[in-house]
Amino acid sequence: MKRVLAVWGSTGSIGVNALDVVRRLNRAGASVRVDVLSAHSNVELLKKQLAEFRPSRAVVGDPSVVDPLSRWSRNRKLRVRIGVGVEGLLESAVAPRVDLVVSAVVGAVGLRPLLAALRAGKNVALANKEALIVAGELVMDTARRSGAQVIPVDSEHSALFQCLGGRTGPGPGVRRLILTASGGAFYRHQGSLANVGVAQALNHPTWKMGKKITVDCATLTNKGLEAIEAHHLFGVPMDRIDIVIHPQSIVHSLVEFDDGSMLAQLSHPDMRLPIQYALTFPDRRPTPVKPLALDEIRTLEFHRPRFKRFPSLSVALDAGRRGGLWPAVFNAANEVAVQAFIQGRTGFMDIPKICRRVMGDYRAQGNPLSLDDVLAADQWARRAAQVALSRAA
Ligand code: NDP
Ligand code: MG
Repeated sequence: MKRVLAVWGSTGSIGVNALDVVRRLNRAGASVRVDVLSAHSNVELLKKQLAEFRPSRAVVGDPSVVDPLSRWSRNRKLRVRIGVGVEGLLESAVAPRVDLVVSAVVGAVGLRPLLAALRAGKNVALANKEALIVAGELVMDTARRSGAQVIPVDSEHSALFQCLGGRTGPGPGVRRLILTASGGAFYRHQGSLANVGVAQALNHPTWKMGKKITVDCATLTNKGLEAIEAHHLFGVPMDRIDIVIHPQSIVHSLVEFDDGSMLAQLSHPDMRLPIQYALTFPDRRPTPVKPLALDEIRTLEFHRPRFKRFPSLSVALDAGRRGGLWPAVFNAANEVAVQAFIQGRTGFMDIPKICRRVMGDYRAQGNPLSLDDVLAADQWARRAAQVALSRAA
């Protein structure tokens, strides 16, 4: 197996796991070269990754880092071109040798680079779900036109992709998609969620992930975002995508077919499995993930989500059902609110309030297939969320 990768967000939770997958695949005889690495602020980890993987390009978030990092690289005889910010990602999206981009940055900032990679015909292993939430039509349309493939990394969507035989886009015979959710940090929490703190919200029971997605899991927003993600990836209408709480995180999602059959994908929760499948697809290779011993697990529970207790889920699903630019507006408001919560500037239950207020003020306009309109909706919602935030404080 031969691949040349760009790994965007290589210093994050998914990025670090992706590089671990690459290391192990190469040790087992594959030829996977990492030609692009990107960090935002964690330059120390990026240096270690540059020394190990020796890519020809790197991208950082802060322009003042470029000169010292270039000097550091030259001293170590590393030949690496260093770009900055979204422009740096855009340049690396069309790097000629790269045949698969792993997009693992967090937030809507990943949208333009994703579109550039797809336009250039590069297949993308997509973890950066926000890009698909804000502009699902545009992303899938761009992929269709160039023939590039969007391969899901998100564990639920990897599960659906596997159950659907490695296909994205609408297909015959699918009745429903059923997304499983761990329930997040507060599934078993008793009492009010109004005063829960950041450390509690970041204490996820089954997955170890970046802060933003971990808070999205605690509010259940993540599952609403994932329903929208599934809608775009697999061409299934929102009202045929169900959500079920499954605290063990063993069944990663299910497809129900017209004849009543259901297929599911099961494994221990370890992101290296879906990441690796996206890299080796359509092949399967061994992973370090422990095989499931079903007789040791014994119990798999499934519950209906508690919409009243976790209002963010309803707000996210509402944005998805409205479609158009509503998911872009919702996503931007959520990004602002979650960041404020992580920084201790707003309460946990203010997150759905801010999103709802921003959506209440939005007057739908524009075309979801226009990048300018998507970016305008995103910018409008970020400003509106800052106003809502100051009112909530
Ligand atoms: P992390 O916060 O751990 O990592 C985010 C990465 O993006 C880091 O490399 C970070 O750089 C970089 N980054 C942050 N802000 C910017 C920016 N403005 N411009 C460019 N790069 C930036 O997140 P995760 O790895 O957890 O998640 C990444 C994506 O994958 C998210 O969209 C998430 O929803 C999705 N995902 C994650 C899962 C997981 O298991 N973690 C599971 C399923 C989906 P630096 O650290 O150097 O600042
Ligand atoms: Mg997921």
